[in-house]
Amino acid sequence: MRKYISELYIEERLLQEDPSLGLFSVIFGVVVGVITSISSIVGTYIRRSNIKEDSVQSIKYTKLITKLTKNDDLKVYVVKDQIPNAFFAGGNDLFLTSSLVKLLADDEVVSILCHEYGHKVENHITKHIIYNSIATTILFSLIVPIVILIPNGPKIMIAIVTYMLGDYAAQIVHAQFFGRRHEFYADSYAKKLGYGSQLKSALKKLDSYYKKLMCKDLSKEECRLIMEPSLEDEHPSVKDRIGKLLLSLSPKNIIKMFTDKKG
Ligand SMILES: [Zn+2]
Repeated sequence: MRKYISELYIEERLLQEDPSLGLFSVIFGVVVGVITSISSIVGTYIRRSNIKEDSVQSIKYTKLITKLTKNDDLKVYVVKDQIPNAFFAGGNDLFLTSSLVKLLADDEVVSILCHEYGHKVENHITKHIIYNSIATTILFSLIVPIVILIPNGPKIMIAIVTYMLGDYAAQIVHAQFFGRRHEFYADSYAKKLGYGSQLKSALKKLDSYYKKLMCKDLSKEECRLIMEPSLEDEHPSVKDRIGKLLLSLSPKNIIKMFTDKKG
């Protein structure tokens, strides 16, 4: 008889004692996964009702992106916020913060909107929900049997640690195999719409803004470390993003970019 608890042992016991528990674990995992994913989107919509919108700027950028993409359903929200940021939260709504609009030139702001629109075109939010649901399903399929089948001992502690490690691993896998690929795709979509060089200069401006903000009292090495994306970060480094943009640009545009003193 095995004296240790392995995943295989638990699965074996699960099947021997009550096969319906396996199904229960899977259904439980799906439900929790979907609820977790959808609640983050609902949270975004709820927060949206409390935001202060700069309607003049919102109308201006809605017109620009609508004209470019020929998608009349799009709506840009310029939200009053001190931190430069932009995101797509599903539907037809693209969000920009007022400080991002202030920091960048008009065509650079449009390049960021093209990037966010790329996320919409490729259904990245839906793909994220599906990934989360599958990852949570697998995780709970492992945890529920642990809680149910381990008769004694610190089973709650084991379940919590398994959940935390599993969740972290799932975030890393998502970032490395999906999230970063989505970011590169959204960048290349901006390039496809003719805004590759503008996106490159926008990324450079944002990078130096964040460097100034975060590296105030740090050494060069500490600054490099803090700016380096962590394993679970969906966003690749600015250097990698610009590198990819350069690879996908025509030689003529690359020469133009390097000779353009404003970029
Ligand atoms: Zn993005």
